[in-house]
Amino acid sequence: MNHVEHAKSRFSLLKRNPDISLSLEFFPSKTEKAAEALWEDIPKLAALNPSYISVTYGAGGSSKNWTVDTAIRIFRETMVPTAAHLTCIGTKKSEIENIARKLHENHIHHIIALRGDMPKDGVIPDSNDNDYYHYANELIEGLYKICEFDISVAAYPEKHPEAPNIDVDIDNLKKKFDAGASRAITQLFFDNNKYYDFLEKVRKAGINAPIIPGIFPISNFENTVKFAKMCNTSIPKNLYKIFENKPSCSEEHIKRAAEICAAQICDLRDNGVKHFHFYTLNRSRLVVDSCNLSGIII
Ligand code: FAD
Repeated sequence: MNHVEHAKSRFSLLKRNPDISLSLEFFPSKTEKAAEALWEDIPKLAALNPSYISVTYGAGGSSKNWTVDTAIRIFRETMVPTAAHLTCIGTKKSEIENIARKLHENHIHHIIALRGDMPKDGVIPDSNDNDYYHYANELIEGLYKICEFDISVAAYPEKHPEAPNIDVDIDNLKKKFDAGASRAITQLFFDNNKYYDFLEKVRKAGINAPIIPGIFPISNFENTVKFAKMCNTSIPKNLYKIFENKPSCSEEHIKRAAEICAAQICDLRDNGVKHFHFYTLNRSRLVVDSCNLSGIII
C-alpha cells in the first residue's frame, strides 16, 4: 500500500452528489484535549471527499506554527489538498516569506491570503513601512514573488466592518483579484438575499471569479450572535425565535441547526451555487448532518 492509499484507508468516502463540491475549514487546536477531538473528527470530515481542507491562522499570527504544522499533518494523514490561511498585519515580510516557503516545500500550495484583524493593542506598522504588507492585495503580490501559489481571498456580502460602504469594499475585492487571487470565500451570512445582492454587485464590477459562500452551521447560538456582531453579519429574526435561550448541546438543537443549514444550502443550490465552504468549528456532526439533509451526500 503506498502512502496515498494508506492515508485514504483511514476513512471510507461517502457518496457525494457529483454536481456539488465542498471545502472544510478547521482551526488549529491549542490544547491537547482539543487536538484529540480534532484528529478524531478529521477522518469523519475527510470522508465527505472535500476538494480541499483549510486551516485558519491566529489573529496577529498568534498560532502560526500550529497552522503550518496542522496543515502539513492534515495533508500527510488524509492526502486531501490542504490550504493554509495566512494573515499579514503585523508580521514582517521576511517572516511571511519563511512561512510561505515552508508551506510550499510541504505540498501546501493553496493559501487563503488575508490582512487579518487590526490588533487590539493598536500596534500597527506605519503605512509607509516597507518591511510589512498592509492589505491582502499587497500580500498576494508578495506571495507570488516567493512561490507559485493558488490564492483565495475573503469577501464580505454584508461589507467588511471597516469599509465605509459596499462599493469601496468591492473595489478592494477587485484589487485582490487583480493581484492574482483565483476565488473568494465569503464571510458567514444567514440571509441568502445578502449573498445574491452582493454577487450581483460583484459581477457588475467586472469580477467573474467564483465567490464561494461560507456556510456556518449554528452549533451554539449565543456564540454565533457574538461572532456575527463582530463580523457585521445580520441574524434573521426567525433564528432568534428558534434558538434563543435554548440549550445548544441538545439533540433537538443539532437537529434544528442541521435543518436550517440544509435549507440555506438547498436555496443556494437552486440559485446556481456549486461549491460550499464550511466553517466546521472542528465539529463533524453538524456538517455531516447538514450535508446529508441537503443532498450534498447521497
Ligand atoms: P483586506 O482585503 O486587506 O481589507 C481590509 C479592510 O481594508 C477592508 O475594509 C477593505 O475595504 C480595506 N482596504 C483594503 N485595501 C485598502 C487600501 N489600500 N486603503 C484603504 N482601505 C483598504 N482572520 C484571521 O485572523 N485568521 C484567519 O485564518 C482568517 N480566515 C478568514 C477566512 C475567511 C473566508 C474570511 C471571510 C475571513 C477570515 N479572517 C481571518 C478574518 C479577516 O482576517 C478579517 O476580516 C480582516 O479584518 C480583513 O482581512 P481581509 O483579508 O479581508 O483584508
